[in-house]
Amino acid sequence: KLSNRLQMIADRVPNGSRIADIGSDHALLPTYLAKDGRITFGVAGEVNPGPFDAASRQVLECGLSKVISVRLGDGLAVIEPGEVDVITIAGMGGSLMASILDAGKNKLANVSLLILQPNVGEDQVRRWLDENGWRLTSETILEEDGKIYEILTAVPQKSSEDPDLYQSRVLDEKVTLTKQRLLLMGPYLVEEASEVLIRKWESELQKLDMIQAQLAHSTAEASKAKALAIGNEIKEIREVLDCLR
Ligand code: SAM
Repeated sequence: KLSNRLQMIADRVPNGSRIADIGSDHALLPTYLAKDGRITFGVAGEVNPGPFDAASRQVLECGLSKVISVRLGDGLAVIEPGEVDVITIAGMGGSLMASILDAGKNKLANVSLLILQPNVGEDQVRRWLDENGWRLTSETILEEDGKIYEILTAVPQKSSEDPDLYQSRVLDEKVTLTKQRLLLMGPYLVEEASEVLIRKWESELQKLDMIQAQLAHSTAEASKAKALAIGNEIKEIREVLDCLR
């Protein structure tokens, strides 16, 4: 049985897809999809030998070697252009994810769907998609075992007629949701304003409060500047949360 997080990612893969799961670790996602008859072909990509071996064993044990190809390599280097329709990348930081997508741009020409689950740095993934012609189509937030995860989907060919998801807007006639804030919190997630989203940002506030308290002990100019920036960040998040609640 998959974790709820991986199940939600699996649920977003259209039937009959050819997928590449990059950073597949034990290849749980592609083997689940193949067993379920949901994919016709899969690549499990891994850059590290340990997880690569684990993925190879899992695919062999499941008798899925004809459907899933396990490949050792960095990011999208493991796929040929046109080989897959869907790419899933889950369980790594947003900046690594954005750099994998950026380095593998030439592999994305025939890809029709990206399903991305960054563990942190979601804003960097949204920004990469926005700046590289991908349209964010959905965002999901879930909590499992005390951790909060976001799952983003995106499709190619953002057109100039699409509404700008990150256009800054005013909440409650006073608080401005800036582009930067929307990239951080997620335009659909903010719209939905779920309890999990509020909990996520309350816990981010607690972390920032702690950092600010530590910086308050320092007299260094750099620390003072940092404390000021964090203070502004805290104020902005509080204002937005007050409007969302
Ligand atoms: N995708 C699985 C999941 O969500 O449960 C596994 C996530 S695991 C925490 C992250 C995996 O990404 C690790 O197995 C790591 O070796 C792999 N990884 C990290 N950087 C990578 C890269 N540049 N290319 C391919 N895999 C990478």
